Amino acid sequence: MPLSPLLPADVLAANFADLKPPLRPQEALVEASRCLYCFDAPCIMACPTGIDIPAFIKKIAFGNPAGAAKTILTANILGASCARVCPTSVLCEGACVLEDRDEQPIMIGRLQRFATDYVEQRGLRVLPQPPANNSGRKIAVIGAGPAGLGCAAELAQLGHRVTIFERQKQAGGLNTYGIAYYKMKPQVSLAEVELVKSLGVELRTGLAVGKDIAVSTLEKDFDAVFIGVGLGTATRLHIPGEELPEVLDALEFISRIHTDPLHTVPVGRRVAVIGAGNTAIDAVTQSKRLGADRAFIVYRRGEGDMSAYDFEYAHAKDDGAQFIFHALPVEVVATNGHVSGLKLIRTRLAGGRVEPIPGTEFVEPCDMVLKAVGQEKQVKMLRGLFPELVIDDRGVIAHDPLTGQTNVPHLFVGGDCGNGGREVVNAVGEGKKAAHGIHVFLTGQTFGPPLQPSRLGAKQGATGSGLMSPIRAHELEAALSPKT
Ligand SMILES: Cc1cc2nc3c(=O)[nH]c(=O)nc-3n(C[C@H](O)[C@H](O)[C@H](O)COP(=O)(O)OP(=O)(O)OC[C@H]3O[C@@H](n4cnc5c(N)ncnc54)[C@H](O)[C@@H]3O)c2cc1C
Ligand code: SF4
Repeated sequence: MPLSPLLPADVLAANFADLKPPLRPQEALVEASRCLYCFDAPCIMACPTGIDIPAFIKKIAFGNPAGAAKTILTANILGASCARVCPTSVLCEGACVLEDRDEQPIMIGRLQRFATDYVEQRGLRVLPQPPANNSGRKIAVIGAGPAGLGCAAELAQLGHRVTIFERQKQAGGLNTYGIAYYKMKPQVSLAEVELVKSLGVELRTGLAVGKDIAVSTLEKDFDAVFIGVGLGTATRLHIPGEELPEVLDALEFISRIHTDPLHTVPVGRRVAVIGAGNTAIDAVTQSKRLGADRAFIVYRRGEGDMSAYDFEYAHAKDDGAQFIFHALPVEVVATNGHVSGLKLIRTRLAGGRVEPIPGTEFVEPCDMVLKAVGQEKQVKMLRGLFPELVIDDRGVIAHDPLTGQTNVPHLFVGGDCGNGGREVVNAVGEGKKAAHGIHVFLTGQTFGPPLQPSRLGAKQGATGSGLMSPIRAHELEAALSPKT
């Protein structure tokens, strides 16, 4: 059966209401007054964009939400979306000292939303207008996702002329098209795009670099280029039936939820989602919220091996999603040309590797299959556009993690195409670091306020290849190391 929408608009509006609703002013004041305003605040160290969290919380506690928003947006131009989409429990809130005292950590994300909503809803401008290209330098940014926007905003504030080239009609990247709809509406991301433009950044949408405009043109017309092109489409399954009309890339399905009215988005009554990362969780949860009777995840390993965050997993289970572990899809089964089931085979681990168990095939009935086994690295596209760039064995652009600089001195990188796929806040932080790297490269000057490294990033190892660039890496390293 072809797919159709299942629920009326009013039910869907309730199902897709914000998971974390805004705080009321009184609630924000009470929450802000719980903060200890730690001197050596671990919450700041845990934020990849280094927002001065105690400073903005104090401003809220003292009745100055606009000042709080200024503190946030100065450090992170996408502070409004990060307030909604960041996995705060493993970043700033996970580092909050109150947890060590067996108290609830401060609701940093919701306070951040309170402050940024305050200025957005009132149309208040809190960031100063940057000097109009007083450096005389021009930078092209490829991709208007969080990395490109973060880089462009920082460069504009450092006095450079910036033009972003974006292939989609609307800017924002996955922040506009990919985030679960109950976490953030695309309007928040689009308002941030306007904020970046208000800093004097030129945005040219509907222009794919390599197709509508050549890289050589950018290299001729601009002094440096930032590459923030993200990742590609879903990885293919390579199983029979993958071409059936009801087998979709999970990202394509999520994107429809953002672009079409909810009551027009078709969904299966029984949806199989293949994969166990955060995208799979978002796909299964949103299938349930669109009205699927049954939505289940199929994963070839066990529960403990899932790459999805624990809180995302718990959330999906609360929404009624089901999980089939230790099973591998071998075929999408069709009846009359439409999906009617997913044939699976049981798996076991042999020396850490997943191995199908012969003779254990079974069919799970379903009428829609969503592929969420990761996004393709854009190696072919990147090699075609930039033949001189070093692409490492993970399929990402090799670069200096402190500056974003690649092996080609005027090319810089940040976000998913350089880190292999992390979070919005990592992309913004890396875009910002690259802006500082570009600034040093073009002017020879160091920059103003130091960036705070992410405590989490330090734990997990810095992103990028570790390739050291010839530009003043030692200066950047000194500026990037914690001062207190
Ligand atoms: C389904 C899903 C859900 C997610 N949920 C969360 C979440 O809840 N919280 C969170 O923090 N992170 C989440 N993420 C991760 C987050 O969205 C990404 O890490 C982040 O968007 C990366 O930003 P980016 O700028 O590197 O790439 P993107 O957001 O992918 O932006 C890249 C941009 O480059 C453009 N582009 C590509 N090629 C060209 C070209 N040749 N010319 C011009 N433009 C080009 C693209 O159109 C796009 O706009 C999620 C990711 C997915 C897939
Ligand atoms: S660690 Fe917690 S209590 Fe300390 S400044 Fe940060 S939010 Fe406030």
